[in-house]
Amino acid sequence: MKKILVTGANGYIAKHVIADLYKRQYSVRGTVRDLSYSEVIKQDIEKHLNSSIDIEFVQASLDKDDGWNEAVKGCDAILHTASPFPINYIKDENELILPAKEGTLRVLNAAKLNSINRVIITSSNAAVYAGNKHINEFDETIWTNIDTKGVRAYTKSKTIAEKAAWDFISKNSSITLTTINPVLVWGPGLGNHLSSASLGIFKILMKKEMPMVPKIKMPIVDVRDVSKAHVDALENKGSYNKRFLVCENTYWFKDVCTKLKSIGINAPSIVAPSLLIKFLSLFDKKLKEITPFLNYDFNINSKQAKTVLGFKPIKFEKTLEDTYKYLNELLKDK
Ligand code: NAP
Repeated sequence: MKKILVTGANGYIAKHVIADLYKRQYSVRGTVRDLSYSEVIKQDIEKHLNSSIDIEFVQASLDKDDGWNEAVKGCDAILHTASPFPINYIKDENELILPAKEGTLRVLNAAKLNSINRVIITSSNAAVYAGNKHINEFDETIWTNIDTKGVRAYTKSKTIAEKAAWDFISKNSSITLTTINPVLVWGPGLGNHLSSASLGIFKILMKKEMPMVPKIKMPIVDVRDVSKAHVDALENKGSYNKRFLVCENTYWFKDVCTKLKSIGINAPSIVAPSLLIKFLSLFDKKLKEITPFLNYDFNINSKQAKTVLGFKPIKFEKTLEDTYKYLNELLKDK
C-alpha cells in the first residue's frame, strides 16, 4: 500500500484529500502543527468514511525545520496543502509570505533528501489572476503580478510560494510537480471548519452580516472536486509538471445571493455602489483588499483540468445547498 504525506492535515481541504486517499486504498501520514489535533482529525475522517483508518501524524510547522525529515521518510508522494490562510487582515505580509514560501521549500528539500519524486502542491487562483486587470479569461499560462498596487498579502504568499516551487523543480528534475490552483472553495467540511477563511464568506452571506454586496465576481469550486483533483493528479502522469485551475464558474456576488434566496436563505439583495465601497475602504483595510476587483468581469478557464484530470465540477446549486446544510448544522447552537 502506498503511503502519502498530506501536510496541514487539519485543514478544510486536507481532510477531504485524506478521506479520498483512503477511498483509493492509500495509507496516509499527516503533518499537524499541534499533535493534540490528531484524534479529532482521525474521528472526522472516519465518520465521513464510516470506517476506521490507520493514519499517522507528525508534528511539523512551515516556519521550522523540525519534523519535516521524519514526516516525509518512507512516503511515496507528498500532497502539500498547508499554507497560512487567515480570515482576518494581516498587517505584516511576511507573516504569510515567509511560511508559505519557506515551508514549501522545506517540504521540497525533505522530498529531495528522501528521494521522493512526486509532489502535488495546493496553490491557488491567487497565484494566477491578480494584478492582471487587462485580462478577462485566465488559464494556467498566466501569473499574478505581485508588483501591482493593492495585491493582498495572501495573494503574494501563494504566488511567491508556487514560483519558488517551480524554480526548485527546474533545478531538481528528479521530482515531478503538479499544482492544483483552486478558486474560492465552498462545500461541506469534515468536522468543524467554522473558522475557514473561504467558508467565512458564505457565513457572512447566509447570516446577512452585511446589508449589501459589492459588485465583485467570485470564481467558485466545490471542496469535493478540489480534493478529487489532487488525488486524480497523483494517479495521472499527464499531470506531471502542470498547473491546474479548478473552477466551476464565476458569479457576481448578487447572483450568488439570488441563488441563495432561491433555496430559502435570507441573503443580501442590494448591490453596494462601488464608489461607496471605495470611500469606506479608506477606513477599512479588509474592504481595501477587495477594491481592485470592483466591477471587474473575468472568467477562469479550467479546460486543462477537464481534459487531463477529467474534472467534472459539481453543480453550483448543489455546492450551495450542501454548504448551507453543513454550516447551518454547525451554527445551530451558536
Ligand atoms: P485551512 O483549513 O485554513 O487549512 C490550512 C492548513 O494549513 C491548516 O492545516 C493549517 O494548520 C496549516 N498551516 C497554516 N499555517 C501553517 C504553518 N505555519 N505551519 C504548518 N501548517 C500551517 O485552509 P484550506 O481552505 O483547507 O486551505 C488549504 C490550502 O488550499 C492552502 O494552501 C490554501 O492556500 C489553498 N487554497 C484554499 C482555497 C479556499 O478557498 N479554501 C482556495 C485556493 C487555495 P492549523 O490547522 O494548525 O491551523
